[in-house]
Amino acid sequence: MSKKIIILLLTLVVTISAVAIRLSSIKPFRLAYTLPPNDLSGKNWDEILNSTSVIDSFKVLNTGSVKVPLSGMLNTKKLKVGNGLEEYLWVDVFVFLFHHKERGWFMIDTGLDSTFQEEGNIKGLLAGNFILESRQRKGQNIAAQLERENKDIKGVFITHLHGDHTGGLPELNPSIPKYIGKGEQYINIPFLYQSNHLTKKDKLFELDWSKGIYKFPFDHILDIFGDGSFLAIHTPGHSSSHLSYLLMTSEGPVLMTGDASHTKYGFTKNIEPGWVDHQETAEKSLSQLIGFSEMYPWIEIIYGHQR
Ligand SMILES: [Zn+2]
Repeated sequence: MSKKIIILLLTLVVTISAVAIRLSSIKPFRLAYTLPPNDLSGKNWDEILNSTSVIDSFKVLNTGSVKVPLSGMLNTKKLKVGNGLEEYLWVDVFVFLFHHKERGWFMIDTGLDSTFQEEGNIKGLLAGNFILESRQRKGQNIAAQLERENKDIKGVFITHLHGDHTGGLPELNPSIPKYIGKGEQYINIPFLYQSNHLTKKDKLFELDWSKGIYKFPFDHILDIFGDGSFLAIHTPGHSSSHLSYLLMTSEGPVLMTGDASHTKYGFTKNIEPGWVDHQETAEKSLSQLIGFSEMYPWIEIIYGHQR
């Protein structure tokens, strides 16, 4: 091959790569979200947890399951020898639907789209280290379930921007507002870990947790609707600006830990996830959630990927 052709081919490869990187690193549009004045500061936990709720419906949708390494779900350094746990485990990917009497239907997290009936929508050289396989029945994907539910979704609150929590977005209407913790990183690395779930049409409203109030044991709590019915709790560590949610349903409060604790095992044994953005922060967030559940053991807890 002549020198000229080699140079031409190299230039072509570099150009194609540059275009691919540019296309796959689309940055979603972020907007600051202004919260209504909060209704929490004068109240203690008993008053918040026992208030008459405007949340009159709450549903858990299971959109499929994924096979993941135990070392991602739990910091294996803290596991005792002979714990009986397998090296890999299958975990569920949930969406939570709830209805606010005045504001309508909302979702927490996005679940999985129908690509998870096969190889899923997270690509790249490293993707297989996170999700090894997926299982989904026909009609179990988020769009199919929402169609059956026939709800007008007013917004999606996302615990964090990891692929298994944004994997349902490609089949949701991009005009539905999405809410995330302020500064939450979008993990989408060209060729290595591509989860191109957000397009330029998607708008991410950032919830500024630093404006949240301190209420023991939590550092920052946001009163999303200003009526005490739905709280975002800043629980960073697994991801840069992770949020857990506490929903005061008419059946009682439900704490959704998100991936501050993927599993019940991690929660009951106080073992933070193996996959962390910052380990000590993850330990702190988990111990705050555990402390809260010990103060109010009657609260229902749903872990990131287990009920
Ligand atoms: Zn997850």
